[in-house]
Amino acid sequence: MSSRSFKQDLTCVFGQPVAENPTQAMIEAAYRHHGLDWRYLTIEVAPDDLGDAVRGLRAMGFRGGNLTIPHKVAVIEHLDGLTEAAEKIGAVNCMVWQGEGDDRKLIGENTDGKGFVESLREVTDPAGKSVVMFGAGGAARAIGVELALAGTTSFTVVNRTEQRGLELAKRLRDKTKAKAEFVHWEGDFAIPEGTDVVVNSTSIGLFPDVDARLALDVSTLTEGMVVADVIPNPPETNLVRDARDRGCTVLDGLGMLVNQGVIGFRLWTGVDPDPSVMRAALEEVFGE
Ligand code: NDP
Repeated sequence: MSSRSFKQDLTCVFGQPVAENPTQAMIEAAYRHHGLDWRYLTIEVAPDDLGDAVRGLRAMGFRGGNLTIPHKVAVIEHLDGLTEAAEKIGAVNCMVWQGEGDDRKLIGENTDGKGFVESLREVTDPAGKSVVMFGAGGAARAIGVELALAGTTSFTVVNRTEQRGLELAKRLRDKTKAKAEFVHWEGDFAIPEGTDVVVNSTSIGLFPDVDARLALDVSTLTEGMVVADVIPNPPETNLVRDARDRGCTVLDGLGMLVNQGVIGFRLWTGVDPDPSVMRAALEEVFGE
């Protein structure tokens, strides 16, 4: 008789489209590295099927999972509760189990902003900083709220669509102690003097539109600034190149992607994964 188990512990991502999401490569590299017989499945789920998919995840004993576009807000009604950060952000990208037995609850967490803050901490402390943020979508919301919870004092939200930008500035003022103003994005934006951190949280530069450039007066990027891009694919965006040429401290989107994966991994398995293994797996995917 063999004592070998043929049953792996399961985790997943639900999204649509989802086939090009590289998270499996990063997470499974870490499962192997840490000797865990776990799997991370990339599962296409249509919006109308999301409730059934979450019930399936519960029924089949998944240990946790991620949500990506278009499920980050819609999933909330199918969960048993939210963490404080996910509630403030208004979106969930990570499902985790809390409690034991009958008290076990499937909780929505948001690791996007935390992943960003962790990669920023590698170069500067967010506390007391003044931040210019391009974009006001899901990634911007998560980054803004987590930066504010980490002590960032002021935000300038620059967005093409007025309504979304106004909503994010209001969310930051209402849900955190930070100051936040909205600027409508028209023409090349000039970064105000005294800005510490500039964040691209739009999808500008994302594959396949790799030559796209932010409408930004590049001459206003100065040496003391940290410039961070959320775009993971390709990590070397025009903004990353321009900011490096201007002598800024630069963070690419892989740092955020790896760090949010590290947090999810830890929440699901209880094991602190090696981020360098996860980054190497992504660099292989993106052919760096
Ligand atoms: P959303 O669709 O919610 O928001 C997109 C944002 O980009 C909006 O503010 C939108 O402006 C803006 N935008 C898009 N195209 C343009 C354009 N041509 N000109 C000006 N503004 C534009 O997307 P998400 O917030 O979920 O994702 C944004 C990016 O973040 C994606 O590229 C995604 O890959 C990346 N991301 C990276 C992560 C990482 O770990 N590195 C994690 C999560 C996301 P408007 O409101 O006017 O439409």
